[in-house]
Amino acid sequence: MKNIFLLLICFFCLLSCEKRPDTVFYNVNVVDVENGKIVPGMTVSVKDGIILKIKKADTRIKEGEQDLTGLYMMPGLIDSHAHLGDCGRMGWLNNTVKSYIKEGVTTIRDAGGDMRPLKIYKAQLDSGTMVGPDVYFSSFWAGPKYFYMRPRFETKGYPTENAPWSQSVSDTASVEELEKMVIEAKEYGCTGLKLYDYLSAEMLQKIIPLCHKHGLKAWGHAENRLADALEVVKAGVETVSHIYLIVGLRNCYSSEYRKKCFTPEEITRRDSIYKEMIARGTILDATITVSKEMNFLYRVVNEAYRAGVKIDAGTDVIDGKTIFQQELNLLVDSCGMSIPDVLRAATVVGAEVVGKEGKLGVIREGAEADLLVLKSNPLESLNALQDRKALYINGIEVK
Ligand SMILES: [Zn+2]
Repeated sequence: MKNIFLLLICFFCLLSCEKRPDTVFYNVNVVDVENGKIVPGMTVSVKDGIILKIKKADTRIKEGEQDLTGLYMMPGLIDSHAHLGDCGRMGWLNNTVKSYIKEGVTTIRDAGGDMRPLKIYKAQLDSGTMVGPDVYFSSFWAGPKYFYMRPRFETKGYPTENAPWSQSVSDTASVEELEKMVIEAKEYGCTGLKLYDYLSAEMLQKIIPLCHKHGLKAWGHAENRLADALEVVKAGVETVSHIYLIVGLRNCYSSEYRKKCFTPEEITRRDSIYKEMIARGTILDATITVSKEMNFLYRVVNEAYRAGVKIDAGTDVIDGKTIFQQELNLLVDSCGMSIPDVLRAATVVGAEVVGKEGKLGVIREGAEADLLVLKSNPLESLNALQDRKALYINGIEVK
């Protein structure tokens, strides 16, 4: 008798310890972006900003559940290339954030600029005084030659020209000096290095193992004036930006080159880059919208896509007006990517860019509850992204 009593106490203790969800979404069609299919009739529970449980919906809705019958739920979108900190002004940043929310973007990878306003923005997100897209920002590194050509606006007002978020890297920098800079970037809150112009292949080979040692991502340009695309990929940069740099900086603006862009020699040259990228899992951050005067590049993106290169969705937005949906439409309509692959680029691949595989960009138990609730199926038409019922960031509805 005593044992049965103890068992009953344990049972009720377990019941009361079970986490109670904050929100339960009843009977929604979950968009499985990883596999490009719909999982119909699911109930999704959210607790503390995380997806707690996903299960087949009961036949009847329970009290307190939100009825999403007939609607579609997919993960929030990820812009893998932005420059939110470039203007260094909070007002400008806040307007850009609003524009991103309108587009359904819930995560942004910032690829360099003045990180001080972004740090303030991130602190507001962390303290809960603001709800907006999460931002992963970088420390921007380039060779001294790059910085000689322009004023250092991104560190203006800082005691030294170099700062944890922006470093001029001398050719003679030792591994110890580089490691100190990597640690400074990490301590400042950067989650990756943006490895920009005038860094030799040898220098990249010194820097990238230090990134990995300290848990930072190595993001870079596909060509950087000293190292070509194949050298950059071989050095271990994990995400390479700009399809026009796969073609080559000198080539992309040359009308002469455009005539020979698709000769067998050039196709073979690019193919060797794609093969290396596929072998290493390197992501191509194509940024096709900003290259749109160069229409021939659509065909180059298609070439990389057909070769099997992993492609993200990055805009390179710098002027405050976001162009994310435009980027997705161009990838489908002009570059010949399938809609499911473009949705994957904007979610699963974006999560990989920032090192959050399985935690972002998926509707999965344990993932962040960044959710888009749509009125129609986005796997059939990207127009569905503009026909939204609701948007949640970390489980909180954002109007
Ligand atoms: Zn950029």
